[in-house]
Amino acid sequence: MITTVENELATYGYLQRPVDPYLNLVEEIQALKREKNAVILAHYYQESEIQDLADYIGDSLGLSQEAARTDARMIVFAGVHFMAEVAKIICPDKKVVLPDLKAGCSLADSAPADAFRRFREQYPDHVVISYINCSAEVKALSDIICTSSNAEKIIRSVPPEKPIIFAPDKNLGKYLIKKTGRDMLLWNGSCMVHEIFSVEKITRLKMRYPDAKLIAHPECEEAVLSMADYIGSTTGLLNFVGRDTANTYIVATEAGILHQMEKHYPDKTFIPAPPENNCACNNCPHMKLNTLEKLYLCLKYEQPEIVLDEDLRQRAYRPLARMLEISAG
Ligand code: SF4
Repeated sequence: MITTVENELATYGYLQRPVDPYLNLVEEIQALKREKNAVILAHYYQESEIQDLADYIGDSLGLSQEAARTDARMIVFAGVHFMAEVAKIICPDKKVVLPDLKAGCSLADSAPADAFRRFREQYPDHVVISYINCSAEVKALSDIICTSSNAEKIIRSVPPEKPIIFAPDKNLGKYLIKKTGRDMLLWNGSCMVHEIFSVEKITRLKMRYPDAKLIAHPECEEAVLSMADYIGSTTGLLNFVGRDTANTYIVATEAGILHQMEKHYPDKTFIPAPPENNCACNNCPHMKLNTLEKLYLCLKYEQPEIVLDEDLRQRAYRPLARMLEISAG
């Protein structure tokens, strides 16, 4: 029987309970976290106020490693749905909650499980490497999962005579083909945020700031990557800025990472790479669905919770465990 709570979550993505506007949400969230033995894991693309409250901030690889490590009773995942799903796959005995169930991902949505199953059936001899930005169903159809931090290592772990399918991000796939020299079959997916950066506007910015370095996430299109001084995962970009000597950077990834860059390196200047149109499209609309109010509500009511069918969870766990093993090695 579908309950009122389930209906509410299906309609709005979170419990619409009134929040006293005078409440100090930061203090309330910290108190609830202690009381409920919860840990907040936040992705770099979250709002800065959520990042500042997190116990751990990182990219997909760091977050999944942290989920595997924590001994908290409840994981509050400030990120998008597939990330919280990964935490549940790795930690079935823990309660995993997400501030807004509707926080999805255009890249994960570009690989519907049924279409992906039919595609993979056409190439039974291929090893399937899937980027972590995909649903649990697609993970269950894959041999190994990877993130942008460890993708090269994962690809190189596959014997050279074995053909590879790489899914779902074609831009990351093309970049990895160049990097590793492995000719992989690519699924035609992409991220709505990373494919919209304007080469023309970046060129103009580089003329205005001739000493600035362009740093880019490998989900960006080839034309942007070919102009970049450094390409890496969000953690990779952050670390690069730390060891590099330049003072100004044009950053081609979701704008949330600028918060950590500015916090860690206050003497440097960071300019978000401009998108094609005039909107703030380098803000991921899915990531930005999470707010401080929704974080508070989900800690308080322990909803929305990520629930997975156990058979699916086990099938999705195998390729993730393989990734964690290879990354650790
Ligand atoms: S930035 Fe792109 S890949 Fe990341 S969650 Fe948003 S839509 Fe998905």
